[in-house]
Amino acid sequence: MNDVVIVNCTVTDARAGGAQSAKASAKASAGAPKSAEGRIADAAVWIRDDRIAAVGPREQVLERVGEAPRLDLDGAYVTPGLVNMHTHLSLSLPGQGGDSVKNMTAHELVLYMADGARRTLHCGVTTVRCVAEKEHADFALRRAIESGRATGPRIFTAGQALVCTGGHGHEASDTMECDGVDGFRRGVRTQVKAGADLIKIMISGGIAGEHESIDTPQLFSDEMAAALQTAHAWGRKVTAHAGPAAVIAEAVELGLDCVEHGYQLTPEVAKRMAERGTALVPTLLVTRCKEFFDELGVPQWMQCRSLGAGPRHLESYAMALDAGVDVLLGSDMPPFWDFEGTNASVRELECMSEGGLGPAGALYAGTLGPVRWLGADADLGTVEVGKYADLIAMDADPLADTSAFRGVRWVMKGGRVVRDDRSGWEKQ
Ligand SMILES: [Zn+2]
Repeated sequence: MNDVVIVNCTVTDARAGGAQSAKASAKASAGAPKSAEGRIADAAVWIRDDRIAAVGPREQVLERVGEAPRLDLDGAYVTPGLVNMHTHLSLSLPGQGGDSVKNMTAHELVLYMADGARRTLHCGVTTVRCVAEKEHADFALRRAIESGRATGPRIFTAGQALVCTGGHGHEASDTMECDGVDGFRRGVRTQVKAGADLIKIMISGGIAGEHESIDTPQLFSDEMAAALQTAHAWGRKVTAHAGPAAVIAEAVELGLDCVEHGYQLTPEVAKRMAERGTALVPTLLVTRCKEFFDELGVPQWMQCRSLGAGPRHLESYAMALDAGVDVLLGSDMPPFWDFEGTNASVRELECMSEGGLGPAGALYAGTLGPVRWLGADADLGTVEVGKYADLIAMDADPLADTSAFRGVRWVMKGGRVVRDDRSGWEKQ
């Protein structure tokens, strides 16, 4: 057995406070820990192999541990690793940057994705939910990471997203075109057969499709119902790329589990989402990332549509918060991408925090909220005994300011340190 004890740190997780986390805790699991837990000053965390064996005040933990090596974190704040719920490691937007990814051979593509996975983990994102990846390369990457042949976060993936013929994202191999009830049933089964943990459907137009607009409905009700029933029968949740309120309202009544973007929610639809337990991954960055679009050579028509949708997108997000919808971190941009002085995952979390969620809510939206949606909260999402030791450390307090995550300088996944800036570690 491999033991190590982390000392000289303050442990903070999403149980430590915040209206949203308290409310969500109450909703998700009766008897959830009260707010006194989840925050321990002068703490120690005992890690045995890949899981947490004890956590608490330093003296108490050290009494029990014995001779294990100590790992001093110099007074850092330790939180669970971040979870990014809207990731594409094989993203290719219109423009020359995207074209270079689209033109890769399968071999090149999977190496490109492995590089992105490693960068993502080094940012402190220890789990991702992929919501459309090319050619099922995500399953090969996940196997490589799980067997230790590649470095990266834990991957939950939808495989290819299901679209109607000519629908949102049909241009690239990260979607599968389906039509009609049989088509969508077959689409769901095809992804499940490949290993999908969840299903992604495109139910409206979006920003990146030239021949559609954000509010173009794309699936008929029977197609949505077919995808939802088939996925649920196989125990898979369904998330939908969706913009307009009417389309979202229809899908929510049919049992949709999560909405991506939600550019144009109304208070009524947000209320129904909250009542039905449909989560929102707002991906606020996609309507405010001109610098990223310029870098990739994204054409003007798409930039105009994206940036033009920004103000309504923020209003929509505020409506979701008001209604009490469970909102979750998701960048859409590659999670590791350098953006506005940090990476896309942290920048998105800052936007969510500033947009009304606040630091405690943001910590929940970036850790415990996502793993609950994924059904992985027995293993991930808090610093508790029995869970995987997926931990990150920073010098500032993330419950005081979400920008603390800009300073992540140490990352552990499954009990193994994968980044430590003090050892001369350099981002590459
Ligand atoms: Zn996306």
